Amino acid sequence: MALIRERRQLNLSLPLPEPSERRPRFTLPLPPAAAAATTSVATNNCSSSAISAADLERLKVLGHGNGGTVYKVRHKRTSTNYALKIVKGDSDPTVRRQLYREMEILRRTDSPYVVHCNATFEKPTGDIWILMEYMNCGTLETLLKANGTFSEPQLAHVARQVLNGLNYLHSQKIIHRDIKPTNLLVNSDMEVKIADFGVSKMMCRTLDNCNSYVGTCAYMSPERFDPDTYGGNYNGYASDIWSLGLTLMELYMGHFPLLPPGQRPDWATLMCAICFGEPPTLPEGVSEEFRSFIECCLQKESGKRWTAAQLLTHPFVCKDPKSIRSRIH
Ligand code: ATP
Ligand code: MG
Repeated sequence: MALIRERRQLNLSLPLPEPSERRPRFTLPLPPAAAAATTSVATNNCSSSAISAADLERLKVLGHGNGGTVYKVRHKRTSTNYALKIVKGDSDPTVRRQLYREMEILRRTDSPYVVHCNATFEKPTGDIWILMEYMNCGTLETLLKANGTFSEPQLAHVARQVLNGLNYLHSQKIIHRDIKPTNLLVNSDMEVKIADFGVSKMMCRTLDNCNSYVGTCAYMSPERFDPDTYGGNYNGYASDIWSLGLTLMELYMGHFPLLPPGQRPDWATLMCAICFGEPPTLPEGVSEEFRSFIECCLQKESGKRWTAAQLLTHPFVCKDPKSIRSRIH
């Protein structure tokens, strides 16, 4: 990072991946295998005993993620719809490691604010399946594209639910590390649930200081981008809060807040914006509560950022949580 800072006037050119969509996506290498999850099936929340893989009928593809495909499937006997994430047996070991990690976390979690896992399967071919509750409105990005930007009451509703999810995860010593619009799922009851634990970290399993670059770097906090400057033993829980702040701003503004609308992101630009620039601020016209809430999330110094538990007491999310479903659809 120091080297890059010195050279940033030098027309530095980095080999960049071809962006596959408008959002910056840079999947970075996982830490060594120490973090790989066990494949043992010990579960309180997620068991393969009740549902057989043969009972599942694939209806359509819901999306492609990093290495896996998610299908909408129907249970033939009960006609219940589920989402089924499949990673092929011959896929990259890193992708498989991420899926094992996701399986282990989903088995351990049990919260209305975290997507529910119904079963996991490891096929003889090596394919891994994760059967999850089907969130029939897709992701927050789906809603943004379909309905346009979110209003403040809608965002307060989203923030309240994501914070409840993060508060739960953090109390379980789980850091998500990839909070972004495509990893927050929505259903028609306007429930918002945290999904996609591929790069999450269970702090309870090791004393690891969570000092490795994983996830999607566009939503990364300054201390994850540049641990040397911001302190090596940074607080990963606070990084999730930074990502939440950026996510809420994006849903309000309609574009990734660290870049002007339409600008093609690249790694160096993002790094300069996140590490050297001031935190992004909301445009004029927003309420004081919203502005203050975002400031509490987007403190560059992680120690100054509010925790999920503190943010749940912030006036922006504590206002009367009246039903907003009608205003969302
Ligand atoms: P990335 O690899 O960067 O995380 P992603 O979040 O799009 O990308 P996945 O988490 O694998 O990748 O999910 C792919 C898509 O499948 C999601 O964007 C979402 O549209 C859909 N999806 C995933 N899980 C569910 C679910 N439980 N219910 C409904 N749709 C889902
Ligand atoms: Mg995802």
